[in-house]
Amino acid sequence: MLKNEKTPLIRLGLRPNRRSVCLQLSLAPLMALAWPAAGKTSGNAHVTEISDGIFAHHGHVELQTEANRGDISNNGFIVGDEAVAVVDTGGSYQTGLALREAVKQATNKPIKYVINTHMHPDHVLGDAAFLPDNPQFVGHAKLARALGARSARYLEAAREAMGEAAFAGTEIVMPTLEVSEPTELDLGNRKIVLEPQPTAHTDNDLVVRDRKTGTAFLGDLIFSVHVPALDGSIVGWTIVLEKFGTEAPALVVPGHGPVAMQWPEASQPIQRYLGKLASDVRAIIKRGGTIKEAIETAGESERGKWKLFDEFHRRNVTAAFAELEWE
Ligand SMILES: [Zn+2]
Repeated sequence: MLKNEKTPLIRLGLRPNRRSVCLQLSLAPLMALAWPAAGKTSGNAHVTEISDGIFAHHGHVELQTEANRGDISNNGFIVGDEAVAVVDTGGSYQTGLALREAVKQATNKPIKYVINTHMHPDHVLGDAAFLPDNPQFVGHAKLARALGARSARYLEAAREAMGEAAFAGTEIVMPTLEVSEPTELDLGNRKIVLEPQPTAHTDNDLVVRDRKTGTAFLGDLIFSVHVPALDGSIVGWTIVLEKFGTEAPALVVPGHGPVAMQWPEASQPIQRYLGKLASDVRAIIKRGGTIKEAIETAGESERGKWKLFDEFHRRNVTAAFAELEWE
């Protein structure tokens, strides 16, 4: 089933107060958040309570395999007095089920929203596990089109990488609630803001910001440990990260890497990577070099600083070259 047959798309036009929320946190608990399993788990090993009522799950920094069942990205959920918002669901029906189970262990509040930070399969393929909760499936205004164009390929690739057993039950769920401008959702004494971004990591990146604690799920706008993967615009991504620095969240959940990080530590390595890649590629273009030369040399100084470098970096160079040669 490629489309769910729920409510038609609804556009919300709320204009939230954009005042950034800052939370004073002492250094000690933040140090404890430096790597995945640290912090409170509330007896729930699948997730860490990184901030009051905000839970995050650490996905493996790996490619999708039968053994990890597509559990290769971070996701989590935010609990209000009346409802829960899930943010991303992992790379298979199985990862979605595990996250849903973690929600049920943490709270008896209903899951009202399943929010996808962007189209990539390691973030959306667990959505179907939440269909029994009848939530709104929420995404950037460009998410539906992006998923529509890629769903067959995403599903086939996931089936091939994980095998039938781990893939079973996995399907694409289309969004039922699209956002094209900053939009506030009320979970009961807890407001979260959805902030659709211009093209950056992809053309459908959506940030989820909790007003109460200043915590933000940034999806794949932030990669840590795992080398970044460019599927949007290197120029746009750089601008989006710079803009975030001006109203930085108190705590960040990256799409890959630790479950929680502080700003600007979260953004510095990826800004360095994107900056180096862009300047190397621009220099090669300027002297009339080829894409082959760029693939062999651009950004090589970043090798050794990231996991999965060989799996993604060359593709990033190709994408950057294609974009920057038209500047
Ligand atoms: Zn992604």
